[in-house]
Amino acid sequence: MTLDGKTVAITGGGIGGTAAALACAQRGAETHLFERADALLEVGAGLQLSPNGMKVLDALGLGARIRSVASRPRAIELRDHRHERLLMQVPLGDAYERRHGAPYLHIHRADLLDVLVEGARAAGVHVHLGRESSGYTPDPTLDFETGTRFPADVVIGADGVHSALRRQSWSGHTPSFTGQVAWRGLVPADAVPEGLVPAATTLLMGPGRHLVLYPLRGGALINFVAVEEREGWAEEGWSIPDDPANLRVAFADWGPTARAVLGACEETFLWGLFVHPPLDRWSDGRMVLMGDAAHPMLPFIAQGAVMALEDAWTLASCLDSHDVPDGVARYESLRRDRATRVQTTAQGQARLYHLDGPLRPIIHLGMRMVGAARPDFGSARFDWLHGHDVTVD
Ligand code: FAD
Repeated sequence: MTLDGKTVAITGGGIGGTAAALACAQRGAETHLFERADALLEVGAGLQLSPNGMKVLDALGLGARIRSVASRPRAIELRDHRHERLLMQVPLGDAYERRHGAPYLHIHRADLLDVLVEGARAAGVHVHLGRESSGYTPDPTLDFETGTRFPADVVIGADGVHSALRRQSWSGHTPSFTGQVAWRGLVPADAVPEGLVPAATTLLMGPGRHLVLYPLRGGALINFVAVEEREGWAEEGWSIPDDPANLRVAFADWGPTARAVLGACEETFLWGLFVHPPLDRWSDGRMVLMGDAAHPMLPFIAQGAVMALEDAWTLASCLDSHDVPDGVARYESLRRDRATRVQTTAQGQARLYHLDGPLRPIIHLGMRMVGAARPDFGSARFDWLHGHDVTVD
């Protein structure tokens, strides 16, 4: 096994970086995880964890812990924004688990990160907090803002959408604003009238806007992501607060569920949605990018964190079966097409969600008819995505 005894340096202790650290340590690498924050913490938000991500967590030996803190939605329901009429649904639960060999779950991001960090520490990962990386050298070393360097056999850049490592060698990579912003937030379920608490993942679609709602932490919380098309630019970042009144104004003419949930919102954050063109390559010799650092994507098919989990497994497995430069090349060849397809699929999704004008009622009618005639239509569309298992590649 070629990772045994090798030194791996990973920058970024988010979902992707911690999963990669655990996967490398499990294969015998001396693994160092560097995070710029003073603690390994995730923002207060939910995450949809599709079966392809669960398969990685199962293979990492974390499946039971994840299941104990996650919830299991019964379906994804697509509804129109004003009357909340059901247009199509994707049954989840046992049927989906049988279809893909792992469940579709909802989890609080902090709970997922806690389980990963616990696993990484137990596997012997050395965690270094308050260490902000500034770049790398091809030897390779991971370099820090303080001027220090950490030498390793391989350096992994898991430092997210604004990756310092990507910036160093892909300076021409320029994202473009989509003209869409997303608010996120959590609302206590008991602040919403009982009949309006969503039991399933609910996707409400209106002209130029959509709203995703789902229960979290055993139904105690409702997670929301609300997307609006607008000309005004907003920054790309998880923690930029906005006044909940702006959110309520944007969705004021929506149906009772949207108004009840957003009406109960006391704290929200606004995120500008940007399209990042796929990179021409993900590595530079012994330095390799993964997760949002390699392929940031729009959140419309809930796959960014799941792709980071897939990357983590594949990268550790390739580094274990090949020497470093070949292992990195193999990882890229296994992952690039799939990640690019997910990026472009996510981009196309907003058009369907935000329909306006005369086409809208026609397409909504079509969705209802197809949904009634072929109940598995919604599931089958994503077989290529949720049915994939990187742990058997
Ligand atoms: P990150 O989670 O961004 O982690 C990067 C880490 O690196 C952070 O801890 C950061 O502090 C650290 N860091 C950054 N710079 C440095 C540096 N210079 N030095 C050291 N450390 C550094 N995905 C899903 O799969 N399902 C969903 O339901 C879902 N919902 C989403 C909803 C919204 C509104 C958005 C915007 C995204 C959503 N995503 C979802 C996408 C998902 O959040 C990201 O794709 C995922 O978090 C990427 O993980 P990562 O580890 O690559 O990066």
